[in-house]
Amino acid sequence: MPLETRNGPGSSTSQARPDADATTSATNTPIVATGRLIPPDSRRPRWLLAVDRCPLCEQRHTHGAPAGLDTTEVHRLSHCQGGGKPYLVKVAA
Ligand SMILES: [Zn+2]
Repeated sequence: MPLETRNGPGSSTSQARPDADATTSATNTPIVATGRLIPPDSRRPRWLLAVDRCPLCEQRHTHGAPAGLDTTEVHRLSHCQGGGKPYLVKVAA
């Protein structure tokens, strides 16, 4: 009865991918912010879309909202210090 001599530890284990149990919350999910529309006034004839609390930096950002009240959700580039990232701004009902 021949001995199995080639089953040493490690001989058949391929290295598992290191991202197998990485956190699932990071890069694939879109970043969603809540915004509110600011109507034009006498000094500023354009609609604005304000993000009072950026999900990235927790600061406030203001974007243009050319569609005015028709704005429901728009992709914008956040104005975070240190670099903006694309995010989806949903207008609060
Ligand atoms: Zn930000």
